[in-house]
Amino acid sequence: MQLLLTTFACDNACAFCAQAALRALGRPAGLEEQLTALSEAEPVVLVGGEPLLHPDVTALVQRVSAGRSVGMQTNARRLATPPLAEQLKAAGLGWVEVALHGDRAALHDYHTQRAGSFEQSVAGLTRARLAGLELRISSVVTRSNYRHLPDMVDHFKGLGAQRLRLAAVAPEGEALAQAARLVPAPALVRPYLLEAQRRASSAGLPLELGLAPSAHFAGLGIVAAPGAPGWRRYQAPSATTPPPPGTTAAA
Ligand code: SF4
Repeated sequence: MQLLLTTFACDNACAFCAQAALRALGRPAGLEEQLTALSEAEPVVLVGGEPLLHPDVTALVQRVSAGRSVGMQTNARRLATPPLAEQLKAAGLGWVEVALHGDRAALHDYHTQRAGSFEQSVAGLTRARLAGLELRISSVVTRSNYRHLPDMVDHFKGLGAQRLRLAAVAPEGEALAQAARLVPAPALVRPYLLEAQRRASSAGLPLELGLAPSAHFAGLGIVAAPGAPGWRRYQAPSATTPPPPGTTAAA
């Protein structure tokens, strides 16, 4: 899998964004060099920032899709405006992995720090699905949403997701400064994670875990998170987890 970094710009402002300090830079230097260096045999994933904010995103997809599988990690907000999803599908995009961090607006928007982002992302991913793109959904597991993981699996299944991924907060950028607010204790997460796995399994939904290696998660098929050594800096377990505004604690 090859990553194509399209832009640092984003229309969300997630509390855990690893690239928050780079967002104002917009497009990274060296996009042409990245394109030239791509192997012809391997799939390509467009990443950001938010790839849909690149002004030539459809042309980029068209350029890299010749003979390759192409996907995109996105918040999908721009896909709510037609006919972008259809254009991307026609250009050769095969799948989108949409970041949703809750099963309701208050929970998701709390993480993105952008009011209205949940509604727009759901509208966008719905258009993507209807345009024929494979829909994947990913969530970052935080202190504010881990108790909702099982309900999130149900909700994402209802939205038509074909694959799910749960990721740990990456120990980089803004997330490092916000660790105490963001990172849950693994022991608290485990029962909700197990229930989320059970529900995904009974729904026939592949669920990939990209959480930090930890004895608490032993036997759950954990994939080591990128930058895992930095995870140690986050280990500050606490039994008290304040719910985000507008949500009700599930436990
Ligand atoms: S959607 Fe992704 S790139 Fe945008 S602010 Fe959130 S984490 Fe950062």
